[in-house]
Amino acid sequence: IQWFPGHMNKARNEIKEIMPQMDVIIEVLDARIPYSSENPMVSALRGDKPVIKIMNKADLADPELTKQWMDYFEQESGVKAIAFGHDKGAEVAKVNELCKKLAPHKVGADKQLKAMIMGIPNVGKSTLINHLAGRIVAKTGNEPAVTKSQQRIRLEDGIMLYDTPGMLWPKVENENSGYRLAATGAVKDTAMNYEEVASFTAEYLLTAYPELLKSRYKIDELPEQDWEFVEMAGRKRGCIRGGNQVDTHKMSEILINELRDAIIGRITMETPAMRDEEEIMVAELR
Ligand code: GDP
Repeated sequence: IQWFPGHMNKARNEIKEIMPQMDVIIEVLDARIPYSSENPMVSALRGDKPVIKIMNKADLADPELTKQWMDYFEQESGVKAIAFGHDKGAEVAKVNELCKKLAPHKVGADKQLKAMIMGIPNVGKSTLINHLAGRIVAKTGNEPAVTKSQQRIRLEDGIMLYDTPGMLWPKVENENSGYRLAATGAVKDTAMNYEEVASFTAEYLLTAYPELLKSRYKIDELPEQDWEFVEMAGRKRGCIRGGNQVDTHKMSEILINELRDAIIGRITMETPAMRDEEEIMVAELR
């Protein structure tokens, strides 16, 4: 993944500038990759500001793992997490409530509580902002990195919501994170090699969700290797080129698209244990 240092520095400086005024940080994560969709700047710049984690796109994620992650965040750092799916109606009030609970000194008739919403592109920040505001104030789009200017939105209860200035980037040090970001659609398609991402994905799914793979691709006995799986599923799906060869590129695209749309099932690509392990690995490489 290519991220431009110029953009990063600009975003960092702008966030640094407004951070001191903020009372609460709302960090939006993709519930399917709560580790890889973290933005390193949130922990680097927030100081001791309280954080609320939003596990967004929870409708696509494995509910059991979403719960595990929420418990993990709370035990690990006392951070409250809220899961949000496509239907955000009922949960919206919880964000306001939590903000007020975390910054009680900013609650009152003549006071203003400032909250900044942070998250990597395409994680669903704009959609969430629109729900919190109860009206369309932010442009949404399925393409990562829709450019937006900074916005302030007045919510109920004297809460002022700040959209992050500039663009935030995901973890770049961890190769696995790169694959998971690509698999879930956080990275633009032009930047990814479908076959590599599909192999990585298949390897994970073969151990983590074998039953879902069997049922979606009508395979009674799964192979051990990811590439064997792509071949097998490709045959089942009729992805065949000349000479009766499996068109692995085509099958790779199918696998990734069906993962992204949760057609295979509700899948989460990482667990809290994986996060702990990979953080150690990344620290050793530094
Ligand atoms: P932003 O770049 O972080 O502002 O992301 P957007 O708000 O533009 O959302 C990116 C895409 O994710 C859009 O296609 C949204 O419809 C979709 N999206 C947002 N929230 C959810 C959610 O909770 N569930 C699902 N399935 N899709 C969502």
